[in-house]
Amino acid sequence: MAGLLPVAEALARVLAGAAPLPEEWIPVGTCDGRVLTRDLVSGRSQPPDDMSSMDGYAVRSADLPGVLSVIGESAAGRSFAGAVTAGTAVRIFTGAPVPAGADAIVMQEEARRDGDEVAVTTGVSAGQFIRRRGLDFTEGLTGLASGTLMNPRRLALAAAMNHATVPVHRRPRVAILSTGDELVEPGTAPGPDQIVSSNALALAAIVRRAGGEPTMLGIAPDRLAETLSRVRGARETGHDVLVTSGGASVGEYDLMREVIAAEGAAPGFWKIAMRPGKPLMMADLGPMRLLGLPGNPVASFVCATLFLRPLLFRLSGRSDADDPTEEAVLGTDVGPNDLRADHLRATLATRDGQLVATPFAVQDSSMIRVLAEADALILRPPHAPAAAAGSPCRILRLDP
Ligand code: AMP
Ligand code: MG
Repeated sequence: MAGLLPVAEALARVLAGAAPLPEEWIPVGTCDGRVLTRDLVSGRSQPPDDMSSMDGYAVRSADLPGVLSVIGESAAGRSFAGAVTAGTAVRIFTGAPVPAGADAIVMQEEARRDGDEVAVTTGVSAGQFIRRRGLDFTEGLTGLASGTLMNPRRLALAAAMNHATVPVHRRPRVAILSTGDELVEPGTAPGPDQIVSSNALALAAIVRRAGGEPTMLGIAPDRLAETLSRVRGARETGHDVLVTSGGASVGEYDLMREVIAAEGAAPGFWKIAMRPGKPLMMADLGPMRLLGLPGNPVASFVCATLFLRPLLFRLSGRSDADDPTEEAVLGTDVGPNDLRADHLRATLATRDGQLVATPFAVQDSSMIRVLAEADALILRPPHAPAAAAGSPCRILRLDP
């Protein structure tokens, strides 16, 4: 089979010209999973003042050991207005500002309170149990750099630096269309020659996990006019990506090429050197990138994992998944591979501290159940020789 496109080359073409989407400002509480478009500079110092890290007494270290008179109280959010002078102390709580004049905190466990007096029998060193102003971060500090992928921890930092809204790349808007006369939605009563459409729902879930916003366009029958009107609809409603499943092979009803041509675009139709999922289609319909995946459920899923997910990462501004593969060892012997990169559905287990990937005996690309039971794909390069159980392999986790 001449002219098969290597997987890496197909991925490069899918990503070619795809740039991170424009910026939008969103509430800081919703930025988990998004990528910053600018540096986030702190508008304040944290802590904003010297703070106590213990419940106890704010003192002058020079006064100790000794008996001090307690002249007031400093609690979190309610500081003591006066100053600690020679022979005095202020009752203080964790997170409360250290009063002027004090240079150390004595833990309450180390102090004996008696009315307005407190006795401390040991000395303390200056600075004890004081968190200095700006210990965490200072005003003007770039706490989070442009390009950072936000997570719950970084979200907390953005909020603590007092950003109510943050600038991030817009989420990719992804329209999903199933094509095929045989398809019906789940929950209906399929006739004997009908198939329940499952690809679109799986694709939508993949899109959501990759940070995109899916729009379900339903099922288009294998007719040019119907398919074309859905594709136009996706384009007119401002989607960044249209993913179709089915109709990408050379069968009688395969229309995607005609649809793309009717939209005035040049269809990229590739036979990729991979299994499952040889045919893949790509076209730019104006600003919307169309990715035509094969209809076979496993092929559709594997192509979405290998091509759609990286495209959505790229559009979202993410650069964290350049090589999402991992090293493992084979759980069984595998035969020699042919010219197509193989993606064997496999389970993962850890044995003697080693990650073991065991391929399922049956690898038919129509088998959704095997896919559902799999943890990973074992990546077998083109022409890989037979390999014995225990030898190293590369894997791609299915639910990273
Ligand atoms: P196609 O690429 O249209 O030739 O479809 C290949 C195989 O995948 C056929 O057996 C279809 O019934 C099946 N198929 C296509 N689309 C879907 C879908 N949305 N959900 C489940 N199976 C599908
Ligand atoms: Mg079809």
